[in-house]
Order: sequence, then structure tokens, then C-alpha cells
Amino acid sequence: MGLYGHDDNRTRPFSRQRRAYLRGSISFGRINRDRVVIGGIQSNQLMGLSIDKARLYGMPHIGCRDTAKGLDATAFAAEHPRCACCGRTNGRHNRHHEPPRSNGTFRLETQNGTFELRPALIDLCGSGTTGCHGDRHSGRLRIRWEWDTAEAEHRWWSGYWLSQPEHEPNGQWLFKYGRYVFTRDSVSWEYRA
Ligand SMILES: [Zn+2]
Ligand SMILES: [Zn+2]
Repeated sequence: MGLYGHDDNRTRPFSRQRRAYLRGSISFGRINRDRVVIGGIQSNQLMGLSIDKARLYGMPHIGCRDTAKGLDATAFAAEHPRCACCGRTNGRHNRHHEPPRSNGTFRLETQNGTFELRPALIDLCGSGTTGCHGDRHSGRLRIRWEWDTAEAEHRWWSGYWLSQPEHEPNGQWLFKYGRYVFTRDSVSWEYRA
């Protein structure tokens, strides 16, 4: 929170804007063109998403990997899955999409190119209704991505990193510059591989 002030200050205006955007009463691109919102992203790049949701696209997979292009082409990265939230290694596990799968992909347009970003895949124990995976889909568990510095966030949103082949989206290299923040029942903790 230190970099950007209190959480409320940066999330509340976006949800109001998003509602107006969905009603069609404002044109995000026209009215807010070139307005830098945070960390170098411009509001017309968000495509109506909240900053917290947009930030999750392209972030590192945890215990999972893509096997092909489609959103459902996924596999666990290791033989024995480990829940990214509670550390559980036995029982049932799922490969959760963050943001959730129904949100699809996110097209990020930058001065350095256009990138179709996929949600992060996160190993969570349980099922769609049980365990940590169930908690995530019921909203009890929340997952955010936080950049360590404004400079790192700017390198992401500007397309600077994404335009370089060694900086693949969803790669583990991103943990050098940021971390996930899990929150359940008002308790928050960080996750960094
Ligand atoms: Zn778990
Ligand atoms: Zn899920």
C-alpha cells in the first residue's frame, strides 16, 4: 500500500468508471485518453476492467503450465500438486484461472505492440465448491498481484518487457519484480516463488 496510498483511494474510482463504461454512458478511450492512472497504465488500456483484475493477466503460473493455446489446455507443473494458498499436497487439486476463466483473455495495447494476455494458472486444493478453490470462487479468498516498484509496473504496462522474447507472460521471472497477495477472512499474506 505504501507506494499508492490507501486501497480505497485507488479501487473506488475504477469501479464507478467501470459501471459507467458498461452502461455505455462514457467512452473510456475518448474521455480518458492518455490519462495515466497508476504505475504507467492509461485508463484506455484497461478495457473497462478494474486495475486489480487487469494486473493479474499474464502473471506467473503457480504449480501449473500451459500445454497449448486454449484456456483449457493446462497441466500441473509437478507430479505432486501443492496448493498455493494453504500448502496442502494431498487430496484433490484444481488448476484455477486468475482472473477466473469466464473473464477470458485480456488484450493489452501498448506503444511496443499488442499482447493477448492469459490469466495466471494457480494450483488450489479442493474443487469448484470445496477447499481453497471453492473459497476463491465464493469470494472468501481473494488474490491480487502487487508490483515491487512503480518502475517495474511501468515496464509491464508499456509493453517494454513483453516485446522482448526472454520476458514471456506468465513466466517465473515476474517474481523478481512483484508478488501475489492472498487475502482470506481479512488475513493477508504474500506469495513469491
Ligand atoms: Zn489449499
Ligand atoms: Zn477456479
